[in-house]
Amino acid sequence: MADVSERKLIELHGALAGPTVIFVGSLHGNEPAGAQALRRLGALLADREGLRGDVWGFVGNVRALKERRRFLSRDLNRRWNDAVTRAQPSTDDAEALEQQELWGELRAALAQARGPVFLVDLHSTSAPGIPFALTADTLPHRDFAAHFPLPTLLGLEEQVDGVLTEWMSAQGCVTLVVEGGQNEDPATLVNLEAVVWLALVAARVLDEAAVPEAAQAYATLNRARGTLPQFIEVLGRRALSADSAFRMEPGFANIEPVREGQLLAHDKHGEIRASSDGFVLMPLYQRQGDDGFFFGREVSSLSLGLARVSRQLKLDALLPLLPGVEGVGANRLKLGPAAVEAYPPSVFRLFGYRRSVRTGDSFELVRRPAPSSPRRS
Ligand SMILES: [Zn+2]
Repeated sequence: MADVSERKLIELHGALAGPTVIFVGSLHGNEPAGAQALRRLGALLADREGLRGDVWGFVGNVRALKERRRFLSRDLNRRWNDAVTRAQPSTDDAEALEQQELWGELRAALAQARGPVFLVDLHSTSAPGIPFALTADTLPHRDFAAHFPLPTLLGLEEQVDGVLTEWMSAQGCVTLVVEGGQNEDPATLVNLEAVVWLALVAARVLDEAAVPEAAQAYATLNRARGTLPQFIEVLGRRALSADSAFRMEPGFANIEPVREGQLLAHDKHGEIRASSDGFVLMPLYQRQGDDGFFFGREVSSLSLGLARVSRQLKLDALLPLLPGVEGVGANRLKLGPAAVEAYPPSVFRLFGYRRSVRTGDSFELVRRPAPSSPRRS
């Protein structure tokens, strides 16, 4: 078993009950800045006055971090599902051991929670880029993300199965993923430290007055965001196959505003141009990958407000009454072929349905369940 102090970097319990904030850093071992930020802030936080509730900080992948490798046998951020609670780790799968140990710590933190639980997962990227956040599309997730002046992508996290934040959301937590910048860039550490300070205030384990660092933290992230909007929703994905011959045009940042008709890339069929104004997200410049880029657009403050009101009024209860739409549980809709034609996807996105799965000629739309109180396990 890895030394507990190598995994657990922060454990603080306020005298008063309150929320819990859990930080995970370096879930990918080639992303050292997350663990570094937690190590530094743990020391600074140890004797902070006025703490309510509980703060935890964990290294995600201790073994891979030692070797500065993304993972040793399998990506630790693609295997969080019900198997977590059953799996007996095999000795030749380092990440199975990592997962077992990390889940043990997370479960203990959840069991001790005295209020709502927030989890912030700190990452960085191999390519240089603007720091940004990803969150699931529920109102509590949106509200928490709004405290961070980062471009926040809605609808990207839902496209990947088995991520830690999906699992922890299912345990009742409000979660946020932050990509702080390039793996080894010193600015990435500064950005992730800023995220930690703001998270403590956003979750209300500390009052803003008790965190003089928060103003500087806000300014740091706000400057990095520049003129990018705060919320961007993902509308599409350029999927690649082995013979696509995809070539991204040079010069796109990881989040890049584009105009309708702008040349984005080439593939074997010719030019790929933007079909509308919007944002190119995560353009592929490495040789490997299945996603050429994602395409998104700003979520205006009007549609943020509209989503809030219609969800608070529970208007989504009306969706299964639409002809051709069938409700399957609280967070899944089945659309027949006629319904796929009849209703614009924006109607469903308004209520957080951001993932669609094709089954024959019909579609299933899926959304993340809104977090309730933490499940005690
Ligand atoms: Zn990562």
